[in-house]
Amino acid sequence: MSMKGDTFKHRGMRRKLVAAIREMEVTDEAVLSAIEKVPRHLFLDPAFEKQAYENTAFQIGAGQTISQPYTVAFQTALLELKKGEKVLEIGTGSGFQTAVLLELGVKVFSIERQRELYNKTKPLLTEMGYSAKLFYGDGYKGKEIFAPYDKILITCGAPFVPDALLEQLKPGGIMVIPVGEGRLQEMKRITKNGDGTIEEVNFGTFSFVPMVEEKH
Ligand code: SAH
Repeated sequence: MSMKGDTFKHRGMRRKLVAAIREMEVTDEAVLSAIEKVPRHLFLDPAFEKQAYENTAFQIGAGQTISQPYTVAFQTALLELKKGEKVLEIGTGSGFQTAVLLELGVKVFSIERQRELYNKTKPLLTEMGYSAKLFYGDGYKGKEIFAPYDKILITCGAPFVPDALLEQLKPGGIMVIPVGEGRLQEMKRITKNGDGTIEEVNFGTFSFVPMVEEKH
C-alpha cells in the first residue's frame, strides 16, 4: 500500500536493506517482499529515520527495542505462513513485525505488556492502514478466546516455553520462540503434530529483550 511519509528515497533504502538480509541467507522471497513493503522508518522516532534502514535493532521506548530486520525475516520465514492463517504474536512492541505478518496475508493477534507501547502502536498501525487485533496483557497467558492459532511467534526472550501457548497452538501448527534465561537465546521452532506430540528444532543463537513475567 502507498503511505503518507513514505517516499522514493525510503523505498530505495528498503531495497538495500532487503538485499543485505538476502545475503544473510534468508531465501523466502514472500517474506523479503513483505519487508520491502513496510516503511520501517514510520515505526521509529522521526529523529532516527536513517537508522531505520540499517540492519540493526533499535530503541523504541519503555526500555524495549524493535527487532533487527534480519531477525524479523528469519523468524517470519520459520513460521511458513499461508494466507488466511491465524497468528498469535507475543511482544507487539513497535508493531513492525505485526505489519510484516499482515503484508503476508495472515490474521494477526498480538499482545504487548508495556502499556506505553500498546498505547502508541495501536493508533499507529491503524493510521497506516494495518488491521490487527492488539491486546494489552501478559503474553505468558496467550489469548484463549481466539485460540487455537495456526502459528505463534514470540518476539522476546522466553525463559521457557509457556504451557498456555503450547495449548493454544493448533495440531499441525508451528511456534517460533527464542528460549533462554540470559542475554542470549536459542531460536526454536516447535511443531505440534496431529497427535499432540511436540517436535523441536534449534536454529542458532539470538539476542532479544526478556519476556517479562508477572510481578505478582
Ligand atoms: N515485535 C516487536 C519486538 C519488540 S521487543 C517489534 O517488531 O517491534 C519485544 C517486546 O515484547 C517488547 O515490546 C516487550 O515489552 C514485549 N514483552 C516482554 N514480555 C512480554 C510479555 N510477557 N507479554 C507480552 N509482551 C511482552
